[in-house]
Amino acid sequence: MFSPLRALLGLFARDIGIDLGTATTLVYVRGKGIVINEPSVVAINPKKNKIPLAVGAEAKRMVGRTPANIVAIRPLKDGVISDFDVTREMLRYFIHKVHEQFGRIPYPRVVIGIPSGVTEVEKMAVHDAAREAGAREAHLIEEPMAAAIGAGLPVTEATASMIIDIGGGTTEVAVISLGGIVVSRSVRIAGDEMDDEVIQYARSNYNLLIGERTAEMVKIAAGSAFPLPEERMVSLRGRDLVTGLPRSMDISSVELREAISGSVSAIVEAVKSTLEETPPELVADLMHHGIALAGGGALLAGLDQRLTQETKMRVYVADDPITCVVRGTGISLEEIDILNQVEVPVQYARAPR
Ligand code: ADP
Ligand code: MG
Repeated sequence: MFSPLRALLGLFARDIGIDLGTATTLVYVRGKGIVINEPSVVAINPKKNKIPLAVGAEAKRMVGRTPANIVAIRPLKDGVISDFDVTREMLRYFIHKVHEQFGRIPYPRVVIGIPSGVTEVEKMAVHDAAREAGAREAHLIEEPMAAAIGAGLPVTEATASMIIDIGGGTTEVAVISLGGIVVSRSVRIAGDEMDDEVIQYARSNYNLLIGERTAEMVKIAAGSAFPLPEERMVSLRGRDLVTGLPRSMDISSVELREAISGSVSAIVEAVKSTLEETPPELVADLMHHGIALAGGGALLAGLDQRLTQETKMRVYVADDPITCVVRGTGISLEEIDILNQVEVPVQYARAPR
């Protein structure tokens, strides 16, 4: 319905797009680009209340360095909102940070990308949190849809596109056509699981205890899903489980590939089973356009090649895969037709405030 007041507000408003990721939250402001890129981490003192002591990069720096009474929470770690209050505080913090940077943005319209596994109650919670933080309108879109838009796929057309979004906590696979998700899978195996596998590998093969940060660093430096043109060595630092002393050793990219092979196979299976469920007409479209990879996990060396080999389709890494979701929210802010087609309705059990 056309409202002159809304139209007027729209002229002055700066709209905001948010990728509420399991590992990282990114915020886009219309006319400014991506202005926030911070870990989805909140530090709280669980004995007191859930008022955050720190959020984002500051909270992540506190991990492992804090007194015992402070804990760092990743409220979306598994792609579901494990802690609603903490998620709301985090969202509020990021929206306020935007206000601080650009002066108070009057009544922004906010589009938020949410993991596709979240429940009705959780959607309502995110929606309410955005409204409470001052949003004039809050719209939700599912992350795979946002990722597909950000990757430049023709989501609203009568042709099928497939997106594979590999984040920290979840891998989301979706076939999209005519503005809707036709077939999808969300599995809780992605980048974090690969890090865990590297930790396990070092422990069981070398009696070396390494931390999560180290595991992630070596995965990024030398992890892969397909033989590399040139295999390489990286150094691994940790604590020797036998002597209890610090130890540094070299590990090869071949070993790292073996270490993370369980997660990689699980991702391959998720893609294959999604393809098996896809109607044949749509598979034909996919054979024509190929399959796009998004999310930080898309940057794992050789993952595109491995998936190409396993699916017999062209699988490619989208441009700037880590920002696909937030850029997708940004595009849907600018193109209201797209937003109208793809947004997730929030069913209110009660009247909105
Ligand atoms: P989310 O959307 O869940 O917040 P992201 O899309 O930001 O997650 O991806 C984060 C994951 O991507 C982390 O597990 C990180 O280790 C992984 N990642 C980032 N860069 C690379 C890389 N070059 N190679 C392999 N994994 C990577
Ligand atoms: Mg993501």
